Amino acid sequence: MALSEQDLLAKVPTQLYINGKWVDGHGEGQIEVEDPATGKTLLTIANANAADGLAALSAADETQKIWSRVAPRERGEILRRAFELVKERSEEFATLISLEMGKPIAEARGEVAYGNEFLRWFSEEAVRISGRYGTSPEGTGRMLVAQRPVGPAFAITPWNFPLAMATRKIGPAIAAGCTMVVKPAELTPLTTLLLVKTLEEAGLPAGVVNVITTSTSAATSGPIIADPRLRKITFTGSTQVGRKLLEQSAQQVLRTSMELGGNAPFLVFEDADVEAAVAGAMLAKMRNIGQACTAANRFIVHESVAEEFANQLAAKMGALKLGRGLDADTTCGPVINEKARENMQRLVDATVAEGGSVVVGGEAGDGDGYFFKPTVIQGVKPGSTILREEIFGPIAPIVHFKTEEEAIALANDTEYGLVSYAFTKDLKRGLRLIESLDTGMTGLNTGLVSNAAAPFGGVKQSGLGREGGFEGINEYLETKYVMTPDPFL
Ligand code: NAD
Repeated sequence: MALSEQDLLAKVPTQLYINGKWVDGHGEGQIEVEDPATGKTLLTIANANAADGLAALSAADETQKIWSRVAPRERGEILRRAFELVKERSEEFATLISLEMGKPIAEARGEVAYGNEFLRWFSEEAVRISGRYGTSPEGTGRMLVAQRPVGPAFAITPWNFPLAMATRKIGPAIAAGCTMVVKPAELTPLTTLLLVKTLEEAGLPAGVVNVITTSTSAATSGPIIADPRLRKITFTGSTQVGRKLLEQSAQQVLRTSMELGGNAPFLVFEDADVEAAVAGAMLAKMRNIGQACTAANRFIVHESVAEEFANQLAAKMGALKLGRGLDADTTCGPVINEKARENMQRLVDATVAEGGSVVVGGEAGDGDGYFFKPTVIQGVKPGSTILREEIFGPIAPIVHFKTEEEAIALANDTEYGLVSYAFTKDLKRGLRLIESLDTGMTGLNTGLVSNAAAPFGGVKQSGLGREGGFEGINEYLETKYVMTPDPFL
């Protein structure tokens, strides 16, 4: 039988997790985690200060050597057990995600399935770390190349996918033999706390993963990043914060993985199946209430199908039911907080002032939560404010184009380069687009690219490195090369 909300919240740890123990934080006061659909407090949890952060790093550092020598199979099996436990408890995880983040329960279930795949995928990758052995070209030596865990890592995650953003980092770190300090976002830390409790039950030894929750991210993270014991930082969040962390990382020349912001173009050509494009647009725009780095941010639509596309999209967007994620008929939750809602209104007003016209939505929704109506804006002028910023909410601005060249130029006119989407039935055009769009990922005739088996990541100011796929574990490994003389000489 499903747990009540209260019973579920009672299962969530509210302390820091350092060296296998749940301990109090020493920061000022505590953190109140809020339900964005009601504005009410769900749970009050520990607040770490800089000393707590360093204690977590000490635990990770002291465990690193021991953990790196644990057999890959054993590391993989811990991850596999955790995968099975999360699967068994998927309804609990989905409910918690929906409660603290606001997404509809069906989407939260989708996140659990997606996020949990990283535990399974990396449980399988743990035993595939390998190297090579060969004769040097001149024949006088032997060359060995091995992969070693990079060392204690610091993971900082955002609030929008509370489970998946954590497993995408914790999974490969455990598989590679790295220890970690994890700092989830202060807005949605509960899922990470429940996940780590689950990893503990799956047999993860003390000190391998340590979790700090804090309301003072910069002050608590700074000393960890400046500490020479740390060897790696892995961050998912905004480009603005990513830049700061890169600057700080330069002091200790840390290995860095940066999954940053996006400004995804969504191209619809005159030869596209418009109905399929609209279905793809709903996924690419409305997944997570538009609060995804992969969210379609700019709809770039051929002028001959622009009206048809806008009307069909507006009909679907307008039919979404705003409400609390846990209500069965809700198809669109709130944005994360009041600031985000105000930002939606600012963007709509600016776009209208710059010549766009609202087809549907365009204003806040009713109720106590931070609701904003799903919005479509047609005839947006190139250069408009909304096309330059990451919207991070349920607004779809539509720009028109005449030629393929113009569409590509519009799509690439951004400092971001995470993902692009393109709808066309012409295979040659599809291939031209793949080669011309400056993004780390492209969805060709689909609005969803995320998959644990695929290398997720961006180019330009959307980041450095890849998460998931065969590439994902490399972010936690370093190459060690050995030369030794020919044993026969
Ligand atoms: P954010 O950058 O505000 O915060 C991300 C994390 O960094 C949080 O844990 C926050 O507490 C922490 N943080 C903030 N300032 C810090 C500092 N000075 N030092 C250390 N830590 C600090 O981002 P957000 O609002 O939580 O998330 C939304 C952003 O994340 C969007 O830009 C989105 O595109 C991006 N994102 C990217 C990906 C990706 O894979 N590329 C995935 C999800 C989200």
